[in-house]
Amino acid sequence: MYATSLHCFYCGADFPLAHRGSCTNCATVGQESALSETLGVRYDLVAIKRQLDRDELVRRAAGLWRYRELLPVVDPTFRIELGAGGTRLAPLTRIPEAIAGNRLFMKVEGSNPSGSFKDRPIGVAASVALEQGARGLACLTSGNIGSAMAAIAAKAGVSSLVLLLGAAGLADQGAAVNVEKYVQISAYGAEVVTPMGNLGQLYALADRIEAELGWSFLHNVQAYQTDGDKTTAFEICEQLGWQAPAAVFVPTRDEPVWTVAGVCPLQRAGLYRLPSAHVRCSATGSRLAGSSLGSSPGHPCGTSANRS
Ligand SMILES: [Zn+2]
Repeated sequence: MYATSLHCFYCGADFPLAHRGSCTNCATVGQESALSETLGVRYDLVAIKRQLDRDELVRRAAGLWRYRELLPVVDPTFRIELGAGGTRLAPLTRIPEAIAGNRLFMKVEGSNPSGSFKDRPIGVAASVALEQGARGLACLTSGNIGSAMAAIAAKAGVSSLVLLLGAAGLADQGAAVNVEKYVQISAYGAEVVTPMGNLGQLYALADRIEAELGWSFLHNVQAYQTDGDKTTAFEICEQLGWQAPAAVFVPTRDEPVWTVAGVCPLQRAGLYRLPSAHVRCSATGSRLAGSSLGSSPGHPCGTSANRS
């Protein structure tokens, strides 16, 4: 077991691995969102460095659990193997002239089992939840998290409940749910509910379901989801010949920080040297706080950080 604790990157507080929910110092009750999640898993990277090297990694099958020492599941029987990860890093050969001769690649995350990158974070978080004793899996989602969780639950043989929100993650403004996702989630066998209420009320409902039924809502193990995201970075570095890319562009909300954070444990475990690099969110073009790979405040690998 190499995971040692949960650590808040903003205030520096440590929590036991069994802690559920957000940092108790930093979270605003009722305002939870993926962007407010500040906890990450700490590992004994010195011990990992003694046990793991590139030669050992390349002998293993592709996928999430190829990097199992850097993931928080202790008992191998709880590693749900759905075939997530191990996606292609495809060269975009007709675009280089637009980026001044640099090489450009696309990580083909649509080839994950449920069709989205969410198979990585949900695969890890669901495995941890079941290892910690969850009797069923549940989530609030507007789409991809629900389909990933429903697929994982079907593979693991446990019941699942999806509170399917509107397309914009809303439940109280009459936003229509994504019918395609509704069908996909239902086909995997999950119970689907389209709730009404604001997110604060739904989080309270989720906590009550957890307490009374012993199920696990996956937003309460967000730290473990981010470790699943990191496997994207592990693969990118390995596929580039143990080199971190100069830049990563991710058209999404919170995952860029955590995806790129994945290069840090690899570097600290001695698997490659960390070059200068940065991340921008392609949705806005803006640099994301905490996305620098240097040793600046806000760095996900650091032991302290500032909100910025
Ligand atoms: Zn905190």
